[in-house]
Amino acid sequence: MKEYTPLDSLKGIGEKTKQIFCRAGIESVGDLLHYFPRVYDTLKEPTAISEVTEDEVQAVCASLEGEPRTVYARARQTTTGLLREGEAYLYVIWYHMPYMKNALKRGSRYVFRGRVTRRSGRLMMEQPAVYTAEDYERARKALQPVYPLCEGLTNKMLQKAIRQALDDPELTEEYLPQEIRKSLGLADYAFALEQIHFPKDRKTLVFARHRLVFDEFYTFLLAVQSLREDRAKKPAAFPMKEPEGLDALAARLDFQLTRAQERVWREIRADLASDRACARLIQGDVGSGKTILAFLAMIFTAENGFQSALMVPTEVLAVQHFHALTELLDKLGLPFHAELLTGSLTAKQKREALERIKTGEADFAVGTHALIQDKVSFDRLALVITDEQHRFGVRQREALGEKGGLPHTLVMSATPIPRTLAVILYGDLDISVVDELPAHRLPIKNCVVDTRYRQKAWEFIKKEADKGHQAYVICPMVEESEGMEAENVQDYARRIAEALPAWIQVGILHGRMKPREKNEIMDRFLRNEIQVLVSTTVVEVGVNVPNATVMMVENAERFGLAQLHQLRGRVGRGKDQSYCIMVHSTDSRRIRERLEILNHSNDGFYIAEEDLKLRGPGDLFGVRQSGIAGFKIGDVFQDAGILAEAKKAVESCPVEPQMREKACRYWNLNKDKLNL
Ligand code: ADP
Ligand code: MG
Repeated sequence: MKEYTPLDSLKGIGEKTKQIFCRAGIESVGDLLHYFPRVYDTLKEPTAISEVTEDEVQAVCASLEGEPRTVYARARQTTTGLLREGEAYLYVIWYHMPYMKNALKRGSRYVFRGRVTRRSGRLMMEQPAVYTAEDYERARKALQPVYPLCEGLTNKMLQKAIRQALDDPELTEEYLPQEIRKSLGLADYAFALEQIHFPKDRKTLVFARHRLVFDEFYTFLLAVQSLREDRAKKPAAFPMKEPEGLDALAARLDFQLTRAQERVWREIRADLASDRACARLIQGDVGSGKTILAFLAMIFTAENGFQSALMVPTEVLAVQHFHALTELLDKLGLPFHAELLTGSLTAKQKREALERIKTGEADFAVGTHALIQDKVSFDRLALVITDEQHRFGVRQREALGEKGGLPHTLVMSATPIPRTLAVILYGDLDISVVDELPAHRLPIKNCVVDTRYRQKAWEFIKKEADKGHQAYVICPMVEESEGMEAENVQDYARRIAEALPAWIQVGILHGRMKPREKNEIMDRFLRNEIQVLVSTTVVEVGVNVPNATVMMVENAERFGLAQLHQLRGRVGRGKDQSYCIMVHSTDSRRIRERLEILNHSNDGFYIAEEDLKLRGPGDLFGVRQSGIAGFKIGDVFQDAGILAEAKKAVESCPVEPQMREKACRYWNLNKDKLNL
């Protein structure tokens, strides 16, 4: 078998199973081997009940005291039992599992394993798995890989298929130059793959992971290097000149550009007017005002008679940018035509939009991934911009570029990556930093509170609404779900609507709504017809409603710091004082400590670094911080050292063309484009 051999060449995988794997993005045996576990379950020795600590998954060996009780509370069926060991007690609770009541033999000892939390002052183990003592001992010996799953796909299916693939030596043949492997002491490829999926022990696993992270970074950097060399060789597809009256135009904006915006705008202008195809990363913390720079660059391009495309990761954001752009054109009295291209257009609308983009009637195309589909073709695309770049992989960025001859590229990102890392990761790009927020912005006031404060927070939201302002409330879930003790949008919206006066309109927004419904809600929020928006994290990227002054996040403990920082960035975008209320529902000191970082700083770069320190480098398989550039196993923050190693290897060790080819295939880049 080869890496690209389709999955159904494996025994036991037919058409139906193939579809299931496909849903998880696994199409070839190569994909399968690079489908890495999310975490590894390790079972610790059972703890004495008296030593159980909260907020951790733990195991205790005990017998049930009396009979478990099943009750209905808040539309949920819970079964509660009491474990006892000498004088010490611990409650166990199962949701929607009434059969647990009779599942366990009275008086027998079992091992219960689950997360322990404190509720109403009591320690409680939630949804514990139950083992006999012997079973538990057996399970303890193994490091159990846990894969990311989707509907129909189980850990067992994956393990079985992966085992088969690993047994084909052709698939795991070494390909890294020996020189590199030797000098860096990297594990053998076959060994690394075997151990990442079926680890012998933790130490070996760490060794194996190092190798695979290296591979990922190394191939990525090779691919990026090819891109850069390729671009350097080629002239811009459509040469442009500084249009007249550009400065006068900038002077007629609603606001004066900040010094940082001015500087970056100058850099962009120089790019656009140069005879090379330029590629630039524009980094700036949330709210630093990157959008206007994109618009100005697009206007520059249109003044030269060419088209530009702006791609964003969500439909909500696409619609918002589209409106902002058309408004700006109106205001400045510019005759250009913008087209919106998203998944939720009707077939007819889409056909017409595509036609206008193709003929060149549209000067601007703003849209989601829909922009990179095959059907889309441009007349004379000279500038391609991707916003919130970290949500896209390098492949998607390039795919849009391929729509033109070789257009200028701008990518915008609000992910705070330290410059040293950015230089490596975006090696094919020049970098500009918008390192200043617009003046007259008051720093956001933060607070971290527990759920007892909720009523007060709602009153506060009411006061802000009285002043004409708006609020977001973020919940981690869409609806009530089994075994998860967290706020959900549906119920929460009902409760807060009841608590607030009737004139305050409460709207909901989440990923399961149809795109058109989402747009409508965002639109009404933007027009202040909705004052309180209860939402999941779909509002996290890029959304701009300057009149919103409160960001309240429920179950803040469930979000990563970078994500919370992005959420908070939705407020503080106008001239009014804004507030971020982070509500947590645990008493855990560790979690409070993490949230304190946000509480004390509004600086994304600082937060990213502190977060890293707090988690420590030992936390190899913790929550992935970023998902930057679509890395599957490497984390650019935690594995910054390996990234630097890979960078050095790319620079110091020339490679065979096949190696580059492999790298580009891994990253799914078009190799014709890369001159291989
Ligand atoms: P981000 O960098 O997060 O994408 P946006 O471009 O959405 O930020 O800008 C945030 C808000 O700041 C918008 O309402 C925008 O109109 C406003 N803004 C941008 N630049 C300036 C400026 N120089 N002065 C005042 N407001 C600005
Ligand atoms: Mg933005």
